[in-house]
Amino acid sequence: AQRIVLASRPDGHVSPDNFRLETVDVPAPAEGEVLVKVHYLSLDPYMRGRMNESRSYAQPQPLGETMVGGTVGEVVASRHAGFEPGEHVVGNLGWTEYGVAKGAALQKVDTSRIPMSAYLGPVGMPGMTAWYGYRKIIAPKRASETIVVSAASGAVGSVVGQLAKIDGMRAVGIAGGPEKCAYVVDELGFDACVDYKQAKDLRELARLVRAATPDGVDGYFENVGGDVLNAVMARLNTFARVAVCGLISDYDNKPDEPARSAILNPAMFLVARFKMEGFIVSDHLDLWPEGLKELGGHVGGGRIKYRETVAEGLASAPDAFIGLLKGRNFGKQLVKLV
Ligand code: NDP
Repeated sequence: AQRIVLASRPDGHVSPDNFRLETVDVPAPAEGEVLVKVHYLSLDPYMRGRMNESRSYAQPQPLGETMVGGTVGEVVASRHAGFEPGEHVVGNLGWTEYGVAKGAALQKVDTSRIPMSAYLGPVGMPGMTAWYGYRKIIAPKRASETIVVSAASGAVGSVVGQLAKIDGMRAVGIAGGPEKCAYVVDELGFDACVDYKQAKDLRELARLVRAATPDGVDGYFENVGGDVLNAVMARLNTFARVAVCGLISDYDNKPDEPARSAILNPAMFLVARFKMEGFIVSDHLDLWPEGLKELGGHVGGGRIKYRETVAEGLASAPDAFIGLLKGRNFGKQLVKLV
């Protein structure tokens, strides 16, 4: 079977030779473990942070070991009483065709109404991320508040805006390029979308954001950082809430490079008295059953739509991952292994 390990740490942009494809024996499950054949591997921005040596909210990925990653697949052998061959399970087996895990680290998923891959998207970690930041931090207070989300066509952002629409809010996306923006408005039902690539500087971007948010901004779900953050901050209403979920525009920095995501006008904290709070979805595992139930209902009922970019075969993972960090993905980035 094949797996991909971290071969070296990137210096700035990730390159294909930071990864190495290896052929290894299919692992055998020990007592209490389950052997899974991976059908889909999830590629996620957080993996970029794991590739660095420096401090992050998660431990660095060790060199020479299978790259971390969420997966969905099929049980092929089980030495755990709770799992049988043929069952579909979500887990964190990493960039590999086959993996073993303890039964407690796997969740069975029902693929009769919702396709397997969606458990890595809107009814998985990204969906839960959207749910937590929107419901618990932005926590809309009254109908028709304006909720803005960056990386709006992506796995997380697309769910944020659709939850806001379900609740009767005004949802405004920010995304890169006319195609992504058209999708966000026409398919996902957002009220407006700003194509940040149309702006040549912060001033122009601020003008575009202003035009899309005539009543100001009550909730901002931040996925990107940089100029986008400052353009939206200038529009915050009194007592607005900003959920800091990700700052992807800084992920590919060199180890000692200063972040671009500086707050240019801290006076806004006083002017708008807004709250800004970062979060990591895995700190809130107690809420996952509640969130996933709601998301499953909306996805199963067609109220939350989603789009995927699917790379074929494990060997395509490094390139697809590099693409994710450059915005080449359109919706949830997956690698299909079976
Ligand atoms: P997406 O599916 O949104 O894909 C990433 C998107 O980010 C790209 O398609 C691109 O969209 C945008 N992007 C990439 N590079 C840049 C850049 N340099 N500047 C601006 N935009 C860029 O990914 P996810 O939905 O999986 O993740 C979205 C965010 O959520 C990330 O910041 C991620 O780290 C964060 N996250 C945080 C979690 C938490 O617990 N806090 C958990 C999961 C995700 P476009 O073309 O529109 O620019």
